[in-house]
Amino acid sequence: MKVIAAIDQGTTSTRCIFVDRKGEIISVGQKEHKQIFPKPGWVEHDPIEIAQNTLEVIARARIQKQIQLNQIVACGITNQRETTVIWNKKTGKPYYNAIVWQDTRVAERADALEKEIGSEYFRKKTGLPITTYFSSLKIQWLLENVPGLRQDAEEGLALFGNMDTFTVWHLTGGKLHITDVTNASRTQLMNLETLDWDEEILQKLNIPKSILPEIRSSSEVYGDISAEPLAGVPLAGILGDQQAALVGQTCFEAGEAKNTYGTGCFMLLNTGTKIVHSKHGLLTTVAYKLGESEVQYALEGSVAVTGSLVQWVRDNLGIIKESRDIEALAASVEDNGGAYFVPAFSGLYAPYWESSARGIIAGLTRFVSKGHIARAVLEATAYQTLDVLQAMEKDAGLPLSTLKVDGGMVVNELLMQFQADMLEVPVIRPKMIETTALGAAYAAGLATGYWATLEDLKANWGEDKRWNPQMDAQKRLEHQKGWKKAIERARNWMD
Ligand code: ADP
Repeated sequence: MKVIAAIDQGTTSTRCIFVDRKGEIISVGQKEHKQIFPKPGWVEHDPIEIAQNTLEVIARARIQKQIQLNQIVACGITNQRETTVIWNKKTGKPYYNAIVWQDTRVAERADALEKEIGSEYFRKKTGLPITTYFSSLKIQWLLENVPGLRQDAEEGLALFGNMDTFTVWHLTGGKLHITDVTNASRTQLMNLETLDWDEEILQKLNIPKSILPEIRSSSEVYGDISAEPLAGVPLAGILGDQQAALVGQTCFEAGEAKNTYGTGCFMLLNTGTKIVHSKHGLLTTVAYKLGESEVQYALEGSVAVTGSLVQWVRDNLGIIKESRDIEALAASVEDNGGAYFVPAFSGLYAPYWESSARGIIAGLTRFVSKGHIARAVLEATAYQTLDVLQAMEKDAGLPLSTLKVDGGMVVNELLMQFQADMLEVPVIRPKMIETTALGAAYAAGLATGYWATLEDLKANWGEDKRWNPQMDAQKRLEHQKGWKKAIERARNWMD
């Protein structure tokens, strides 16, 4: 049996999956990597640890089902976006840890740039506002703060990449220094119209073009992998994780949307070949470009902290042992007991974009127990998604009829029901919730003829479960009012 490999280099772990023609998972290897927090607001990963984990998870997934090299038609890659690493071309050694997308060390720089140039300038060219989130200011920080790096960069010795580029470089023994349009669209250095690096922005931010990878489509044969566990396998797909989930959910028509519930939450709406500039705090981004076909764009609502709040409650408060225990704890009480949790750990992303917002727990009384806190934690995900959905409906000018969901948190039934209640639309979970890896596999399989058309992929999508709204209006509005109040407090925290 022939299969496709997909590597998902995520924020918390790296996975390798093998899928068959039906889009079903045959085998999985997965390993978590260290989250490094050197200072408040700083988040880093060790790129070498990730490179080693990548090889290990591929080997594990192959061994699990005795998958032979000659069965593997192609490999696709998907990755945490924006996370920034710069390494030496000759030694392969990173100059510094990878600066993770959630990291807020450039908050002051972002504020200064906003005052100096204004977000509009960047929004128009790149679809993105000035914030700490994207790669541009992280690259600038590295160039300015790592001794010797600026000079190496000027001399053409240093290479920049997001985790897709870094992974491809390693898997091909340093032969390919490339990225795809979706990842490039999150650096804040790519022009959305030309799909090329924007010379004017590079000049303004003083970033040498020589460190940047070549921008390719999301689905084409880029070259062969040389690393042992996939030696000789064509590398044929690259998609940023959220765009990969859009493809994995087969949202190929303008107007189709998905929401992925992982470390953060990311809702993407396919807007077809049109660049729609948001008026309500969403991002404009590239959805995908499959080989020679026309590029597709999307509107995106990004929420920084959702699943990672569950991890925080697990690791920093210790009131649960495993992430999944949050559901039973939340179900031990009837409602949130008046408590609201705004997890603005990395400031607030969509639709607020406030780097200086900070997390709060509001509405505490003696009555509030850890069960209520657990509920407030899960509800925070649903409210943040509601804020994004409302912005999306305003931008798109029409209401969403249903929401397709995926990601690690959608196994949580209490959350899914509450989500449907808050959004007032049915929430639909597909049979395959590993849509991120699936999307990368689809991109690689399309490029190599494993799947012939988008219709083949659509035929693979199947519904697993749907949650219909059932909360009465008064209760829903009360909840939403409490959230709005809490959000205002978090937004003004630093004032
Ligand atoms: P990513 O791809 O962003 O690394 P995943 O899609 O693997 O993340 O989802 C993992 C996240 O989901 C973690 O932050 C974890 O805390 C959370 N999570 C896992 N299981 C549950 C659950 N049953 N209820 C709520 N959250 C969960």
